[in-house]
Amino acid sequence: MAAKLAKNLESKKCPECLTYLAPDAKECFSCGARVKDADKTGIAKRPFNWKSYLFSLLSAAALGLYLWWAFF
Ligand SMILES: [Zn+2]
Repeated sequence: MAAKLAKNLESKKCPECLTYLAPDAKECFSCGARVKDADKTGIAKRPFNWKSYLFSLLSAAALGLYLWWAFF
């Protein structure tokens, strides 16, 4: 028996430009943003951006290291 998924949304909105997209769209055709499934409000979630997360983590670590090196 297949689990019945609660698919009550006919479409979802791009989180960047609020264009209506197909519920299974992986990318916004209007602005090119990558999108995930819609949340309760019908707006698609942004995929987690590992690159920018790592970059900000690294720059924070570099700044901390620099401050430590400069003052101690
Ligand atoms: Zn868009």
